[in-house]
Amino acid sequence: MTCPGCGAAMHVAAGKDFLVCDYCGATHFPEANPDGVRVLGEATESPCPRCSITLVTASLAGARVIYCNHCHGVLIPMDDFMGVVEELRSRHETAAYTGQQPDWHDLDRTTACPNCRKRMDTHPYGGPGNVIIDTCEDCSVNWLDYGELQRIVRAPDGHYAIALDEDERDKMALDAMLNDHS
Ligand SMILES: [Zn+2]
Ligand SMILES: [Zn+2]
Ligand SMILES: [Zn+2]
Repeated sequence: MTCPGCGAAMHVAAGKDFLVCDYCGATHFPEANPDGVRVLGEATESPCPRCSITLVTASLAGARVIYCNHCHGVLIPMDDFMGVVEELRSRHETAAYTGQQPDWHDLDRTTACPNCRKRMDTHPYGGPGNVIIDTCEDCSVNWLDYGELQRIVRAPDGHYAIALDEDERDKMALDAMLNDHS
C-alpha cells in the first residue's frame, strides 16, 4: 500500500505486524479480520489452493502467515500453529461455541499445497473445534479455510471428546430402547 500521509510506498516492518512508510516513517496497523488475521499485503509466490489467486503476507497472533484476500483462507506454519491457537484463545473471555460437528464432505476436497503444489493431507484436526484441515508434512504448514481457525479457537478444551461421549451415550440409549421392545 501507499502511505496515506505522503504517498510513498509502505513496507512491512521487519518481524512486525504493521507497515512503515519508507519516506516519512508513518505506521499503519492493519485491522484484524474475525479470524484474527492482519493483512500485510505483500505478494508471495504461492497460489491460493481454493481460488488460485496469489496469497499475500499477513500476521496472525504474532506469527507470519500467508493469506488469501478472496476466500480468507490462511496458511500457518505447523511450528507456530499451537502458539497461534493459544494466543487467540487467550483473547476470548467466553467460548461462543456452536458445537458443530465436522462436515465430513470436506474430507473429499483436494487441496494443493501453496508451497510445493503437492496434494495436502485433508484430515480431521486432532484438537477441539471439530474441523477438517489440510496439512503438508513436507512443508510443515496447515491450510485453514475461513472460519475454521475461529472454530478451533472458540471450542472449549476437550469438546471433541465430549461430543464423542454424547454420541456414545445416544447409541447406548438407543440400544436399551430397542432391547426393551424386543
Ligand atoms: Zn509517508
Ligand atoms: Zn482463496
Ligand atoms: Zn507442501
